Amino acid sequence: MRHLTALVVTLLMSACVKTVPGGKSMQTNPIVQTGDPVLRAAAQDVPVERIGTPEFNALITRMVDTMRAAPGVGLAAPQIGVPWRVLVLEDREELMTALTPEERAERERLPVPVRVFINPTLTPIGEDKVTFFEGCLSVAGFAGLVERHHEVEVSGLDEKGQPQTWRVKGWPARILQHEVDHLLGTLYIDRMLTRSFGTAAQVKARFAGKSIAQVKQELGFTK
Ligand SMILES: [Zn+2]
Repeated sequence: MRHLTALVVTLLMSACVKTVPGGKSMQTNPIVQTGDPVLRAAAQDVPVERIGTPEFNALITRMVDTMRAAPGVGLAAPQIGVPWRVLVLEDREELMTALTPEERAERERLPVPVRVFINPTLTPIGEDKVTFFEGCLSVAGFAGLVERHHEVEVSGLDEKGQPQTWRVKGWPARILQHEVDHLLGTLYIDRMLTRSFGTAAQVKARFAGKSIAQVKQELGFTK
């Protein structure tokens, strides 16, 4: 674990400072891109004694800032090169402005304040599945349709080391499944409907404002 701690410190030192609109400065790390082995390895549990240390708090801050600067709605520690089982997520109104009210409703997408999960376990609730386009900051510039459980329950520790459980449906449930997958070395491209894969620009140009039923029909899916 000493090696890992040294790695975390090194990564935090390699961060850069960005200034975002409004003048606030953020400390961000480069986001690891697909092909890097760190995205394909199972991350390790964070030892509980690390939680709450200045170094660990700095990691959480760095992950949140990197997610916001991207911008994205979730980030797992391996995406900044740290092989620990930590994820952060946040969804903001300003990230939904490109969606029509119908698209927001179909996705069950609502603002979610920052949540941190350390050493999480995820359990699907029920049999319902939903399919939508999904992207990943580590597969930059692309998107594909991915079927996910409609509702999940995630248990783990928060940033203070307190146990927490969150049962949630809709878009946050999708984010959680995507991020927990990262901690297992799985990317959405492993789960996507491959003929739906395209650049984010193509997907936006072809399918913005359309229902998923219509999208699937245009892509040649029979169900
Ligand atoms: Zn991702």
